Amino acid sequence: MKTGDRKILVVDDNREFVNFIRRALEDRAYQISVAFDGKTAIEKALLEVPELVLLDLKLPDLSGEEVLQRVKEINKNIAIIVITGHGGEQVAVEMMKRGAIDFISKPVEYDVLLKAIENALEMRDHQLEDHHLNRYASLEKFFPFLAHEIRNPLHAISGALAIIQRRSDRKDELLGQSIKIIHEEVQHLNNFVQECLNFVRPPDRIRFNEVDMNELMGVVITMVSHMLELESNNIRVVSEMDPHLPKIYANYEEMKHALVNIVKNAFESMPEGGELTIQTLRNVDSPKHIKLIVSDQGMGMMKENLKLLFSPFFTTKLRGTGLGLAICRRIIVERHHGKIDIESEEHRGTTVRIELPIGRRLGDK
Ligand code: ADP
Ligand code: MG
Repeated sequence: MKTGDRKILVVDDNREFVNFIRRALEDRAYQISVAFDGKTAIEKALLEVPELVLLDLKLPDLSGEEVLQRVKEINKNIAIIVITGHGGEQVAVEMMKRGAIDFISKPVEYDVLLKAIENALEMRDHQLEDHHLNRYASLEKFFPFLAHEIRNPLHAISGALAIIQRRSDRKDELLGQSIKIIHEEVQHLNNFVQECLNFVRPPDRIRFNEVDMNELMGVVITMVSHMLELESNNIRVVSEMDPHLPKIYANYEEMKHALVNIVKNAFESMPEGGELTIQTLRNVDSPKHIKLIVSDQGMGMMKENLKLLFSPFFTTKLRGTGLGLAICRRIIVERHHGKIDIESEEHRGTTVRIELPIGRRLGDK
Protein backbone atom coordinates (compact mmCIF):
# COMPACT_ATOMS: atom_id res chain seq x y z
CA MET A 1 0.00 0.00 0.00
CA LYS A 2 1.14 3.51 -0.73
CA THR A 3 1.31 5.01 2.74
CA GLY A 4 4.46 7.02 2.39
CA ASP A 5 2.81 10.30 1.61
CA ARG A 6 -0.41 10.02 3.64
CA LYS A 7 -0.53 12.96 5.98
CA ILE A 8 -2.07 12.63 9.43
CA LEU A 9 -2.52 15.43 11.93
CA VAL A 10 -2.76 14.35 15.58
CA VAL A 11 -4.57 16.85 17.80
CA ASP A 12 -4.25 16.14 21.52
CA ASP A 13 -2.74 17.99 24.48
CA ASN A 14 -1.69 14.78 26.17
CA ARG A 15 1.96 14.36 25.21
CA GLU A 16 2.08 10.78 26.35
CA PHE A 17 -0.78 9.85 24.06
CA VAL A 18 0.74 11.75 21.16
CA ASN A 19 3.99 9.86 21.65
CA PHE A 20 2.11 6.58 21.72
CA ILE A 21 0.49 7.43 18.39
CA ARG A 22 3.81 8.56 16.94
CA ARG A 23 5.40 5.26 17.91
CA ALA A 24 2.43 3.23 16.71
CA LEU A 25 2.48 4.81 13.27
CA GLU A 26 6.22 5.21 12.97
CA ASP A 27 7.11 2.20 10.83
CA ARG A 28 3.92 2.59 8.85
CA ALA A 29 5.56 5.59 7.20
CA TYR A 30 2.58 7.85 7.64
CA GLN A 31 3.61 11.45 7.74
CA ILE A 32 2.64 12.64 11.23
CA SER A 33 2.16 16.20 12.37
CA VAL A 34 1.05 17.23 15.86
CA ALA A 35 -1.01 20.03 17.39
CA PHE A 36 -1.33 20.34 21.17
CA ASP A 37 -4.23 22.79 21.02
CA GLY A 38 -7.18 23.72 18.84
CA LYS A 39 -5.78 26.90 17.40
CA THR A 40 -2.62 25.18 16.18
CA ALA A 41 -4.77 22.36 14.80
CA ILE A 42 -6.74 24.78 12.63
CA GLU A 43 -3.58 26.52 11.45
CA LYS A 44 -1.98 23.21 10.54
CA ALA A 45 -5.11 21.98 8.78
CA LEU A 46 -4.94 25.09 6.66
CA LEU A 47 -1.21 24.97 5.94
CA GLU A 48 -0.50 21.27 5.73
CA VAL A 49 -3.84 19.97 4.39
CA PRO A 50 -3.67 16.58 6.08
CA GLU A 51 -5.72 13.71 4.71
CA LEU A 52 -6.76 12.62 8.17
CA VAL A 53 -7.07 14.31 11.57
CA LEU A 54 -7.09 12.36 14.83
CA LEU A 55 -8.95 14.75 17.07
CA ASP A 56 -9.15 14.59 20.84
CA LEU A 57 -12.28 16.35 22.01
CA LYS A 58 -10.79 17.82 25.19
CA LEU A 59 -8.41 20.58 24.25
CA PRO A 60 -7.03 23.43 26.38
CA ASP A 61 -8.36 26.25 24.22
CA LEU A 62 -11.18 25.42 21.81
CA SER A 63 -13.85 22.75 22.01
CA GLY A 64 -13.33 19.67 19.86
CA GLU A 65 -16.60 20.45 18.16
CA GLU A 66 -15.37 23.85 17.09
CA VAL A 67 -12.12 22.44 15.74
CA LEU A 68 -14.02 19.79 13.79
CA GLN A 69 -16.25 22.38 12.23
CA ARG A 70 -13.39 24.70 11.28
CA VAL A 71 -11.33 21.87 9.78
CA LYS A 72 -14.30 20.75 7.70
CA GLU A 73 -14.79 24.33 6.53
CA ILE A 74 -11.15 24.53 5.49
CA ASN A 75 -11.40 21.36 3.45
CA LYS A 76 -14.29 18.96 3.56
CA ASN A 77 -12.09 16.19 2.17
CA ILE A 78 -10.08 16.00 5.39
CA ALA A 79 -11.27 12.89 7.22
CA ILE A 80 -11.62 13.23 10.98
CA ILE A 81 -11.49 10.48 13.59
CA VAL A 82 -12.66 11.68 16.97
CA ILE A 83 -10.91 10.39 20.08
CA THR A 84 -13.01 10.41 23.22
CA GLY A 85 -12.34 9.71 26.86
CA HIS A 86 -14.02 6.90 28.68
CA GLY A 87 -17.81 7.00 28.27
CA GLY A 88 -17.71 9.62 25.55
CA GLU A 89 -19.61 7.57 22.97
CA GLN A 90 -22.67 9.77 23.08
CA VAL A 91 -20.64 12.83 22.20
CA ALA A 92 -18.80 10.88 19.53
CA VAL A 93 -22.04 9.96 17.81
CA GLU A 94 -22.97 13.63 17.83
CA MET A 95 -19.61 14.46 16.22
CA MET A 96 -20.16 11.89 13.50
CA LYS A 97 -23.38 13.65 12.63
CA ARG A 98 -21.27 16.74 12.15
CA GLY A 99 -18.91 15.08 9.72
CA ALA A 100 -16.43 12.92 11.68
CA ILE A 101 -15.78 9.69 9.84
CA ASP A 102 -15.25 7.46 12.91
CA PHE A 103 -14.45 7.57 16.60
CA ILE A 104 -12.21 5.62 18.95
CA SER A 105 -12.25 5.66 22.74
CA LYS A 106 -9.32 5.98 25.12
CA PRO A 107 -7.50 3.89 26.16
CA VAL A 108 -6.76 3.24 22.51
CA GLU A 109 -5.45 -0.13 21.47
CA TYR A 110 -2.79 -0.36 18.81
CA ASP A 111 -4.74 -2.63 16.43
CA VAL A 112 -7.95 -0.63 16.80
CA LEU A 113 -6.09 2.56 16.02
CA LEU A 114 -4.42 1.18 12.91
CA LYS A 115 -7.61 -0.36 11.60
CA ALA A 116 -9.55 2.86 12.18
CA ILE A 117 -6.93 4.90 10.33
CA GLU A 118 -6.81 2.51 7.40
CA ASN A 119 -10.59 2.40 7.15
CA ALA A 120 -10.95 6.14 7.39
CA LEU A 121 -8.37 6.76 4.65
CA GLU A 122 -10.01 4.17 2.45
CA MET A 123 -13.44 5.72 2.97
CA ARG A 124 -12.01 9.12 2.18
CA ASP A 125 -10.51 7.79 -1.04
CA HIS A 126 -13.84 6.34 -2.07
CA GLN A 127 -15.63 9.59 -1.30
CA LEU A 128 -13.12 11.49 -3.40
CA GLU A 129 -13.51 9.01 -6.24
CA ASP A 130 -17.31 9.38 -6.13
CA HIS A 131 -16.93 13.10 -6.13
CA HIS A 132 -14.65 12.81 -9.14
CA LEU A 133 -17.21 10.67 -10.99
CA ASN A 134 -20.08 13.00 -10.11
CA ARG A 135 -18.14 15.86 -11.55
CA TYR A 136 -18.32 14.15 -14.90
CA ALA A 137 -22.02 13.35 -14.60
CA SER A 138 -22.88 16.79 -15.96
CA LEU A 139 -20.54 16.26 -18.92
CA GLU A 140 -22.37 13.05 -19.68
CA LYS A 141 -25.52 15.01 -20.37
CA PHE A 142 -23.80 17.92 -22.00
CA PHE A 143 -21.55 16.18 -24.52
CA PRO A 144 -24.27 14.37 -26.49
CA PHE A 145 -26.19 17.64 -26.68
CA LEU A 146 -23.07 19.48 -27.80
CA ALA A 147 -22.28 16.77 -30.35
CA HIS A 148 -25.72 17.01 -31.87
CA GLU A 149 -25.65 20.80 -32.06
CA ILE A 150 -22.21 20.85 -33.66
CA ARG A 151 -22.49 17.91 -36.00
CA ASN A 152 -25.57 19.02 -37.90
CA PRO A 153 -24.11 22.34 -39.03
CA LEU A 154 -20.82 20.56 -39.77
CA HIS A 155 -22.56 18.18 -42.14
CA ALA A 156 -24.18 21.12 -43.87
CA ILE A 157 -20.84 22.93 -44.14
CA SER A 158 -19.14 19.84 -45.58
CA GLY A 159 -21.89 19.40 -48.12
CA ALA A 160 -21.80 23.01 -49.19
CA LEU A 161 -18.01 22.94 -49.32
CA ALA A 162 -18.05 19.94 -51.65
CA ILE A 163 -20.24 21.91 -54.07
CA ILE A 164 -17.97 24.95 -53.92
CA GLN A 165 -14.96 22.73 -54.52
CA ARG A 166 -16.53 21.14 -57.58
CA ARG A 167 -17.51 24.44 -59.12
CA SER A 168 -14.41 26.39 -58.30
CA ASP A 169 -11.70 27.33 -60.70
CA ARG A 170 -8.83 24.92 -60.14
CA LYS A 171 -6.29 27.55 -61.11
CA ASP A 172 -7.32 29.82 -58.27
CA GLU A 173 -4.68 28.87 -55.73
CA LEU A 174 -5.93 31.06 -52.92
CA LEU A 175 -9.42 29.62 -53.24
CA GLY A 176 -7.99 26.11 -53.23
CA GLN A 177 -6.05 26.85 -50.05
CA SER A 178 -9.08 28.39 -48.38
CA ILE A 179 -11.17 25.34 -49.18
CA LYS A 180 -8.46 23.14 -47.75
CA ILE A 181 -8.44 25.15 -44.51
CA ILE A 182 -12.22 24.90 -44.09
CA HIS A 183 -12.01 21.18 -44.78
CA GLU A 184 -9.30 20.67 -42.14
CA GLU A 185 -11.11 22.74 -39.55
CA VAL A 186 -14.33 20.82 -40.13
CA GLN A 187 -12.38 17.60 -39.74
CA HIS A 188 -10.88 18.86 -36.52
CA LEU A 189 -14.27 19.79 -35.06
CA ASN A 190 -15.67 16.41 -36.11
CA ASN A 191 -12.83 14.65 -34.31
CA PHE A 192 -13.32 16.81 -31.26
CA VAL A 193 -17.00 15.99 -31.08
CA GLN A 194 -16.23 12.30 -31.53
CA GLU A 195 -13.71 12.46 -28.68
CA CYS A 196 -16.28 14.12 -26.42
CA LEU A 197 -18.72 11.32 -27.16
CA ASN A 198 -16.05 8.68 -26.59
CA PHE A 199 -15.37 10.17 -23.21
CA VAL A 200 -18.93 9.72 -22.00
CA ARG A 201 -19.86 6.55 -23.90
CA PRO A 202 -21.51 4.15 -21.46
CA PRO A 203 -19.68 0.93 -20.64
CA ASP A 204 -20.38 -1.81 -23.11
CA ARG A 205 -20.13 -5.07 -21.19
CA ILE A 206 -21.51 -7.21 -23.99
CA ARG A 207 -18.47 -6.81 -26.12
CA PHE A 208 -16.05 -8.11 -23.51
CA ASN A 209 -14.04 -10.90 -25.01
CA GLU A 210 -10.70 -12.68 -24.95
CA VAL A 211 -8.14 -10.28 -26.33
CA ASP A 212 -4.56 -10.99 -27.33
CA MET A 213 -2.77 -7.81 -26.34
CA ASN A 214 0.35 -8.63 -28.40
CA GLU A 215 -1.79 -8.73 -31.49
CA LEU A 216 -3.72 -5.61 -30.51
CA MET A 217 -0.48 -3.70 -29.92
CA GLY A 218 0.60 -4.59 -33.47
CA VAL A 219 -2.70 -3.32 -34.85
CA VAL A 220 -2.42 -0.10 -32.84
CA ILE A 221 1.10 0.68 -34.08
CA THR A 222 0.06 0.16 -37.69
CA MET A 223 -3.00 2.35 -37.19
CA VAL A 224 -1.07 5.20 -35.62
CA SER A 225 1.72 5.05 -38.25
CA HIS A 226 -0.93 5.53 -40.93
CA MET A 227 -2.67 8.30 -39.01
CA LEU A 228 0.53 10.25 -38.49
CA GLU A 229 2.27 9.43 -41.73
CA LEU A 230 4.64 12.39 -41.60
CA GLU A 231 5.61 12.13 -37.97
CA SER A 232 6.19 8.40 -38.16
CA ASN A 233 8.94 8.74 -40.77
CA ASN A 234 11.82 9.00 -38.33
CA ILE A 235 10.39 6.90 -35.55
CA ARG A 236 11.77 3.47 -34.93
CA VAL A 237 9.38 1.13 -33.16
CA VAL A 238 10.91 -1.56 -30.97
CA SER A 239 8.51 -4.28 -29.86
CA GLU A 240 9.29 -6.55 -26.97
CA MET A 241 6.30 -8.83 -26.75
CA ASP A 242 6.09 -11.64 -24.24
CA PRO A 243 5.36 -14.73 -26.37
CA HIS A 244 3.59 -16.38 -23.44
CA LEU A 245 1.39 -13.43 -22.64
CA PRO A 246 -2.02 -14.74 -21.56
CA LYS A 247 -5.08 -13.33 -23.29
CA ILE A 248 -7.12 -10.95 -21.21
CA TYR A 249 -10.84 -10.44 -20.87
CA ALA A 250 -11.46 -7.02 -22.34
CA ASN A 251 -13.46 -4.86 -24.67
CA TYR A 252 -11.40 -4.94 -27.86
CA GLU A 253 -12.63 -1.68 -29.36
CA GLU A 254 -12.30 0.29 -26.15
CA MET A 255 -8.87 -1.09 -25.45
CA LYS A 256 -7.77 -0.28 -28.99
CA HIS A 257 -9.03 3.24 -28.53
CA ALA A 258 -7.09 3.70 -25.28
CA LEU A 259 -3.86 2.34 -26.73
CA VAL A 260 -4.16 4.39 -29.92
CA ASN A 261 -4.35 7.50 -27.75
CA ILE A 262 -1.24 6.52 -25.82
CA VAL A 263 0.82 5.52 -28.85
CA LYS A 264 -0.35 8.63 -30.71
CA ASN A 265 0.85 10.82 -27.85
CA ALA A 266 4.21 9.04 -27.98
CA PHE A 267 4.53 9.63 -31.74
CA GLU A 268 3.46 13.24 -31.34
CA SER A 269 6.07 13.80 -28.65
CA MET A 270 8.87 12.93 -31.10
CA PRO A 271 8.49 15.33 -34.03
CA GLU A 272 12.20 14.96 -34.73
CA GLY A 273 12.05 11.20 -34.55
CA GLY A 274 13.34 8.76 -31.97
CA GLU A 275 12.66 5.36 -30.56
CA LEU A 276 9.34 4.04 -29.34
CA THR A 277 9.46 0.91 -27.23
CA ILE A 278 6.40 -1.22 -26.72
CA GLN A 279 6.59 -3.97 -24.19
CA THR A 280 4.07 -6.56 -23.07
CA LEU A 281 4.84 -8.80 -20.13
CA ARG A 282 3.35 -10.95 -17.46
CA ASN A 283 3.31 -9.44 -14.03
CA VAL A 284 5.57 -11.51 -11.80
CA ASP A 285 4.30 -9.87 -8.61
CA SER A 286 0.69 -10.42 -9.49
CA PRO A 287 0.11 -13.36 -11.84
CA LYS A 288 -3.48 -12.34 -12.52
CA HIS A 289 -2.37 -9.19 -14.29
CA ILE A 290 -0.44 -8.31 -17.41
CA LYS A 291 1.65 -5.22 -18.04
CA LEU A 292 2.02 -3.00 -21.06
CA ILE A 293 4.75 -0.41 -21.25
CA VAL A 294 5.00 2.31 -23.89
CA SER A 295 8.17 4.42 -23.76
CA ASP A 296 9.15 7.27 -25.99
CA GLN A 297 12.24 9.45 -26.26
CA GLY A 298 10.22 12.55 -26.92
CA MET A 299 9.89 15.96 -25.37
CA GLY A 300 8.52 14.65 -22.08
CA MET A 301 6.62 16.98 -19.83
CA MET A 302 7.02 19.45 -17.04
CA LYS A 303 6.54 18.13 -13.54
CA GLU A 304 3.56 20.37 -12.79
CA ASN A 305 1.74 19.02 -15.85
CA LEU A 306 1.98 15.42 -14.69
CA LYS A 307 -0.92 15.70 -12.30
CA LEU A 308 -3.14 17.37 -14.88
CA LEU A 309 -2.69 14.74 -17.57
CA PHE A 310 -5.86 12.85 -16.93
CA SER A 311 -8.09 15.90 -16.57
CA PRO A 312 -10.42 16.36 -19.51
CA PHE A 313 -9.35 19.21 -21.81
CA PHE A 314 -5.81 19.45 -20.47
CA THR A 315 -3.61 19.84 -23.52
CA THR A 316 -0.35 21.55 -24.44
CA LYS A 317 -0.93 20.99 -28.16
CA LEU A 318 -2.17 23.58 -30.57
CA ARG A 319 -4.65 21.14 -32.04
CA GLY A 320 -5.14 18.89 -29.03
CA THR A 321 -8.47 18.05 -27.41
CA GLY A 322 -6.98 17.05 -24.07
CA LEU A 323 -9.43 14.16 -23.95
CA GLY A 324 -7.09 11.34 -24.99
CA LEU A 325 -5.72 10.44 -21.58
CA ALA A 326 -9.01 11.19 -19.82
CA ILE A 327 -10.57 8.55 -22.07
CA CYS A 328 -7.66 6.17 -21.43
CA ARG A 329 -8.18 6.49 -17.70
CA ARG A 330 -11.88 5.77 -18.03
CA ILE A 331 -11.30 2.71 -20.20
CA ILE A 332 -8.37 1.26 -18.29
CA VAL A 333 -9.26 2.10 -14.70
CA GLU A 334 -13.03 2.40 -14.58
CA ARG A 335 -14.07 -0.13 -17.20
CA HIS A 336 -11.26 -2.68 -16.98
CA HIS A 337 -10.20 -2.21 -13.36
CA GLY A 338 -6.60 -1.76 -14.38
CA LYS A 339 -4.01 0.86 -13.58
CA ILE A 340 -2.25 3.51 -15.61
CA ASP A 341 0.81 5.32 -14.45
CA ILE A 342 2.87 7.90 -16.32
CA GLU A 343 6.46 8.88 -15.68
CA SER A 344 8.07 11.62 -17.64
CA GLU A 345 11.14 13.77 -17.77
CA GLU A 346 11.30 16.94 -19.78
CA HIS A 347 13.39 16.60 -22.97
CA ARG A 348 14.05 12.97 -22.10
CA GLY A 349 10.86 11.08 -22.75
CA THR A 350 7.82 9.49 -21.26
CA THR A 351 6.93 6.03 -20.05
CA VAL A 352 3.34 4.89 -19.72
CA ARG A 353 2.79 1.78 -17.63
CA ILE A 354 -0.49 -0.05 -17.79
CA GLU A 355 -1.56 -2.98 -15.71
CA LEU A 356 -4.62 -4.99 -16.68
CA PRO A 357 -6.35 -7.85 -14.93
CA ILE A 358 -6.50 -11.01 -17.01
CA GLY A 359 -10.12 -11.25 -15.93
CA ARG A 360 -12.17 -13.73 -14.00
CA ARG A 361 -14.36 -15.07 -16.72
CA LEU A 362 -11.58 -16.62 -18.78
CA GLY A 363 -11.40 -19.57 -16.46
CA ASP A 364 -15.17 -20.13 -16.67
CA LYS A 365 -15.13 -21.08 -20.30
P1 ADP B 1 -3.97 15.73 -26.39
O1 ADP B 1 -3.08 14.69 -26.99
O2 ADP B 1 -5.18 16.03 -27.22
O3 ADP B 1 -3.25 16.97 -25.97
P2 ADP B 1 -4.07 13.89 -24.16
O4 ADP B 1 -5.05 13.70 -23.06
O5 ADP B 1 -3.79 12.71 -25.03
O6 ADP B 1 -4.58 15.13 -25.03
O7 ADP B 1 -2.70 14.39 -23.54
C1 ADP B 1 -2.71 15.53 -22.70
C2 ADP B 1 -1.35 16.17 -22.64
O8 ADP B 1 -0.43 15.31 -21.98
C3 ADP B 1 -0.70 16.46 -23.98
O9 ADP B 1 -1.14 17.68 -24.52
C4 ADP B 1 0.78 16.49 -23.61
O10 ADP B 1 1.13 17.73 -23.04
C5 ADP B 1 0.88 15.49 -22.50
N1 ADP B 1 1.37 14.16 -22.97
C6 ADP B 1 0.66 13.04 -23.06
N2 ADP B 1 1.43 12.02 -23.50
C7 ADP B 1 2.67 12.52 -23.69
C8 ADP B 1 3.95 11.98 -24.13
N3 ADP B 1 4.07 10.69 -24.48
N4 ADP B 1 4.99 12.81 -24.16
C9 ADP B 1 4.88 14.12 -23.80
N5 ADP B 1 3.72 14.67 -23.39
C10 ADP B 1 2.63 13.91 -23.33
MG1 MG C 1 -3.53 12.68 -27.16
